[in-house]
Amino acid sequence: MFEKPEQTDIAIIGAGPAGVAAAVTAAHAGAQVTLLDESPRAGGQYYKQPALDAKDKQFPPTVAENIRKGRELLSDLQHSNINFQHSTLVWNVLPEERILNLYGPQGAQNLQAKRIIIAAGAYERVTPFTGWTKPGVTTVGGAQLLLKSQGLKIGQRLLLAGTGPLLQLAAVQFMEAGMEVAAILELQSRKEFLLKAPKLWGHWDKLGQGMANQKRLLEAGIPFKFGYTVAEATGDEEVNGAVIMKVNGKGIPVLGSEETIEVDTICLNYGFAPAVELARVAGCTMVFDKYFGSFAIETNENLETSVNAFFVAGETRGIGGVEVALLEGKLAGAIAGSQLGFTPKVDESNLRKEQQQARKAVAALGTMFPLKSGLCKLVKDEVPVCRCEEVTAGEVRRAIEMGVTQLNQLKPWTRVGMGRCQGRICGGILNQMLADETGVSISEIQPFTSRAPIKPVPMESVGGGDDSGEFTWEDHVGYGAART
Ligand SMILES: Cc1cc2nc3c(=O)[nH]c(=O)nc-3n(C[C@H](O)[C@H](O)[C@H](O)COP(=O)(O)OP(=O)(O)OC[C@H]3O[C@@H](n4cnc5c(N)ncnc54)[C@H](O)[C@@H]3O)c2cc1C
Repeated sequence: MFEKPEQTDIAIIGAGPAGVAAAVTAAHAGAQVTLLDESPRAGGQYYKQPALDAKDKQFPPTVAENIRKGRELLSDLQHSNINFQHSTLVWNVLPEERILNLYGPQGAQNLQAKRIIIAAGAYERVTPFTGWTKPGVTTVGGAQLLLKSQGLKIGQRLLLAGTGPLLQLAAVQFMEAGMEVAAILELQSRKEFLLKAPKLWGHWDKLGQGMANQKRLLEAGIPFKFGYTVAEATGDEEVNGAVIMKVNGKGIPVLGSEETIEVDTICLNYGFAPAVELARVAGCTMVFDKYFGSFAIETNENLETSVNAFFVAGETRGIGGVEVALLEGKLAGAIAGSQLGFTPKVDESNLRKEQQQARKAVAALGTMFPLKSGLCKLVKDEVPVCRCEEVTAGEVRRAIEMGVTQLNQLKPWTRVGMGRCQGRICGGILNQMLADETGVSISEIQPFTSRAPIKPVPMESVGGGDDSGEFTWEDHVGYGAART
């Protein structure tokens, strides 16, 4: 079925901060590295680089600074031991043979490696409400993607809603780009926030960044509403406003607290969930990350997974942010390199100490911004919760009433998670719904089973006939790249 695979010492999936740091460290140690990313440019989410046809555009100062820092980091990829294959999706993995199945501009390819590092990043979490599928409702990261890669504004007047520090950071970027931020809605109440804030004591850089963003938003007079969420996106064809509501400590909307805000765009971010599909296809054991309320991939202190020769680093190992991603990338690259007999030019034990400290700091941040399943009470029965298969909240609730308690039972019953996104968007939502309706803890609800191909690819690349006349490479990989 497959061509004879290309060979490399270390294959790395994901050219975000974690993957790039791993590639550079392993290459400097002497290993031959193949770095793969489905995006056309390296950098991942944090160091996202402008599209090639937008590189001369003017970017807002904070975005421009990230682009500059990213360019510096990415210049290290010029090492002769690194083969960077951009626009290349890894859609399957054969763990025993350590073979990756790829699909990119050259079509289908296979790559065999002695060590494999998965640094596939994360997805944003959202919650549904009436009107959330209208044009004009997007994720915060989606709006950032337009700005960072093309210099484009997602809208004129924005509402940002969700929980966590990305809301403030993105609001500053949007404001700098000339968009009006009508308000920021933070799910946590002011009291919850202040009670947990001491956990950040000692983590001065995180506190400093947060306070600097807060100050800029205050100076610009942008309302920051604690204990609020979006209840409805109004408008016929497109968003023309939002109904917002107060929520109680469990996230349950407080009736009678409705207010309306005029906006043309609603940007959502309720934190992140690690991209674990490929590692799961490989058979890596998962672990529930109690700090960020999501499943991640379990490792030992060397970032080795339960599957021989497979490592994970960065967000795939658990939400951690850019500093953790860089440190874990270096560590995974160094350990993988030394296992193959190369000599990394970093001190592994120092690196491990720094990585563990950085993980501790972000754990404190994670516990401050939990997602609350009470938000599901907002979702009326007619609201679609699986967009690809158009399954409504009512259909899901009926299945739960009939005894469904797990996502994998819900799937054959209702078709949720069987569409093009393969559960990446609806998985987190359904998880919350199951927890809310059954009272079972989120940690007890297993994610959908991951299967190859983990993202859409043409039939010809999985050995199923020739459809090359109908689809282009962009129809498949381009779709994934635009979404992530
Ligand atoms: C949408 C979004 C926006 C974010 N914005 C910010 C921000 O503004 N500030 C901030 O501090 N943090 C932000 N984050 C958090 C961010 O993920 C981390 O700070 C940091 O980028 C993590 O680095 P990483 O290398 O682990 O993952 P990423 O940077 O996400 O890199 C993962 C890479 O893997 C590639 N990939 C994934 N699966 C495959 C596959 N199967 N085949 C080929 N390639 C694959 C992706 O294309 C991506 O380039 C954002 C996260 C997301 C999801």
